[in-house]
Amino acid sequence: QQAAAAQYVQSVYETVVRRNPNESEFHQAVKEILDSLLPVFAKHPKYRELGILERVVEPERFVQFRVPWVDDEGKIRVNRGFRVQFNSAIGPYKGGLRFHPTVNASIIKFLGFEQIFKNALTGQPIGGGKGGSDFDPKGKSDGEIMRFTQSFMTELYKYIGPDADVPAGDIGVGAREIGYMFGQYKRIRGGHEAGVLTGKGVGYGGSLTRTEATGYGCVYFVNEMLKYKGLSFHGSTVVVSGSGNVSIYAMEKAAQLGAKVVACSDSDGYIYDPEGIHIETVKRLKEVERKRIREYVDKHPQAVYTEGCEGIWSIPCDIALPCATQNEIDGEAARKLVAGGVRAVGEGANMPSTLEAVEVFLNHRVLFGPAKAANAGGVAVSALEMAQNSMRTSWTFEEVDAKLHTIMKNIYENSVQAAEEYGVSGNLVAGANIAGFLKVADAMVLQGIV
Ligand code: GLU
Repeated sequence: QQAAAAQYVQSVYETVVRRNPNESEFHQAVKEILDSLLPVFAKHPKYRELGILERVVEPERFVQFRVPWVDDEGKIRVNRGFRVQFNSAIGPYKGGLRFHPTVNASIIKFLGFEQIFKNALTGQPIGGGKGGSDFDPKGKSDGEIMRFTQSFMTELYKYIGPDADVPAGDIGVGAREIGYMFGQYKRIRGGHEAGVLTGKGVGYGGSLTRTEATGYGCVYFVNEMLKYKGLSFHGSTVVVSGSGNVSIYAMEKAAQLGAKVVACSDSDGYIYDPEGIHIETVKRLKEVERKRIREYVDKHPQAVYTEGCEGIWSIPCDIALPCATQNEIDGEAARKLVAGGVRAVGEGANMPSTLEAVEVFLNHRVLFGPAKAANAGGVAVSALEMAQNSMRTSWTFEEVDAKLHTIMKNIYENSVQAAEEYGVSGNLVAGANIAGFLKVADAMVLQGIV
């Protein structure tokens, strides 16, 4: 069975590489899952017989479209839009939209593929999808953002709907962009279908705690890992990369739990503040003024700004929370973190550690919370937003936060349990992949060959 499973997994991987040439991020995400699933295919030949894996790695639908818009100088610009509808076995496609110049088919597929299993892990009825554009929001005026997002939605609306596909934010897409997209969708459709997007403003169907959810959820997850080892955030030193929505609220919750957060970053460089990062300053800079993180030192002269991002992982810390972007921690950065005494790593971003980095952490017995589990809080609260929209009601901050906390605990426990059951005790990468996969695979088995 072992050999048959290995052969099966290898042949599916080769098909993915052949069908999606040059899409290294997508290959990486698939490889990580497939390696984890070997014990599942060895134990249950039925998944092989039913071709579950061949079907799971092929998106149900992939759309690519032109997004024309006019900039402030009156010049016509063209970007490329994407939406991958990867898997709808357990619910409508669900996943964010990323606006960043690096967005291409490979990035969208890797994110969409990961989203399938992450969403399953939340225990909520949501399938996996993802989308975005190579549009660069950096330096764009408010008017340009609005015209671009309206044009983007004028094409995207054909593929989405509250019961079909529900996008949300990701890098470069926050409350402002969701607002403009919702406005455009509403005009086109001629009705207030609140559940078509999540991450909306709380005044028109958004959920309290959605903004905080990914960062808070990541810290709740890491807290579970720490508790198991008799450790805690209290009194620990924390390094967080990024300074967007995920990073800011991871820092906030870590600080609330008594940690000292000493560093964060943006795509230009990082700041180190020995006194502990003043989160209000970061919030103002990034959320209100839309400035660069280097400006932090103007207000807090004891802090040091360093150009370039890699150096952040050389700062000695107890807990590292990579909350910026994919592959931001490679093998070398992981070894630096280990040398600096890191005890726990929680992935707030999607796939922030390379396969080699993950190996380094696991080999050194660093507590490692993989993205699919550790950052699932964002999409989990998105599902709670959908539920509130369907019920035409809204829950309090405390109610949603309590549900988020329970969901993160359950994800941790289910991942631990799956790892144990399949003979990879303590490996949460495998545990999360197996637990997420089994939910999707079982739903697919029951729904026939579709
Ligand atoms: N972009 C987030 C993620 O990677 C959230 C997606 C959502 O809320 O639909 O999970």
